[in-house]
Amino acid sequence: MTTSNARDLPDGRVDQHVDRRRFLARTGGAILCGVAGAVVASAATGQRSSGAVERQRTSAPRVRLFLCGDVMTGRGIDQILRHPGDPRIFEGYVRSAGDYVAIAEQASGPIPRAVDPAYIWGDALAELERAPPDARIVNLETAVTDVGEPWPGKGIHYRMHPANVPCLAAAKLDCCTLANNHMLDWGYEGLQRTLETLRAAGMRTAGAGRDLAEAAAPAVIDVSGGGRVLVFAYGSPSSGVTMKWAARSHRRGLNVLDECAPGAVERVAREVGEWKRPGDLVVVSLHWGSNWGYEVPAEQRALAHRLIDDAAVDLIHGHSSHHPRPIEVHRNKLVLYGCGDFINDYEGITGYEVFRPELGLMYLPEFDSRTGQLTRLLLVATRTHRFRVERASVEDASWLQDRLNREARAFGTRIEPQPGGVYQLQWT
Ligand SMILES: [Zn+2]
Repeated sequence: MTTSNARDLPDGRVDQHVDRRRFLARTGGAILCGVAGAVVASAATGQRSSGAVERQRTSAPRVRLFLCGDVMTGRGIDQILRHPGDPRIFEGYVRSAGDYVAIAEQASGPIPRAVDPAYIWGDALAELERAPPDARIVNLETAVTDVGEPWPGKGIHYRMHPANVPCLAAAKLDCCTLANNHMLDWGYEGLQRTLETLRAAGMRTAGAGRDLAEAAAPAVIDVSGGGRVLVFAYGSPSSGVTMKWAARSHRRGLNVLDECAPGAVERVAREVGEWKRPGDLVVVSLHWGSNWGYEVPAEQRALAHRLIDDAAVDLIHGHSSHHPRPIEVHRNKLVLYGCGDFINDYEGITGYEVFRPELGLMYLPEFDSRTGQLTRLLLVATRTHRFRVERASVEDASWLQDRLNREARAFGTRIEPQPGGVYQLQWT
């Protein structure tokens, strides 16, 4: 099912399978993110999902998370926030971040400017407030900086002005994972400003740091009632993260992990073992794989299984794909192969409509905190419109359900609608 794979590799090369000029012509010169979005209901119908996402009282201690895929608040999104940064960008065909706002407006109508920090999250915030999760974890697919130079030879450089960080705080994020193919778009200076800005705003980070030890250390989130969530974040070359960006013992950078490299599982097992205490829920967040298509490479599936079998990992939080990929439950542990995009400025960019990249998912898993086993996964289907997350219509959510169920057949999972317009995962 894999189609062409529009990769923006960090060294500026583009995947050979893509006729870039033809793609750019179709999109008016706009460029999607480099290599590279579980309860659902309808804004159109006004359906409420509150009943289905209410926490169920059980005797076993539970930990509930909110996860989503890429949150890209740079470029066009940055331009509609209260403190837009310098709009100059250095892409082959586009010179101003404002052009991405214009492209979206051509497709969807006027987009407000100087928006409230909560604007971009739209309906997602109400969904989260109805049944607040214990921890909120996203992949932040942009630098947060007003300093630094664009990484030489790279085709796309994402950045959000640090003064706009309230747009991340508005969602009460506990952890932003940073090991992805845009975190060094503005160099080491940009990375440093990103880390300082997020931490000053009270958010934990994982996957990047001032040295390898800091980049590899998990974000530690204390859970009310006891226990912790540990978030380890890795970026894979298969998503366009170059080894040049890897942190070293005395060099800033990212926590890079190649799913094909010998010793990858042993390394993660060692790092998890250094931190894990009884009752901890271990999340491994992985930026891996291509942007488009539903196929899960055999090496990714093998790594996911081995991380669960041999590295005491409870949840694989995969991202990089621009649309949701299949979900698997391996030995009662959850594997999200690709959570898709959640927030970005790609609206109006054409060429990949077949994947409906405007549709995403909120993943709301619940675990038995004694065992790390999945007890329930609820999903909310979303759609981005005018740079704002909305609940998907009944029709759109149904499309997403059909597509995921088709692609997840080989993984033994299905999502089924529940009362209140949410979906719930079923697995064998
Ligand atoms: Zn990416």
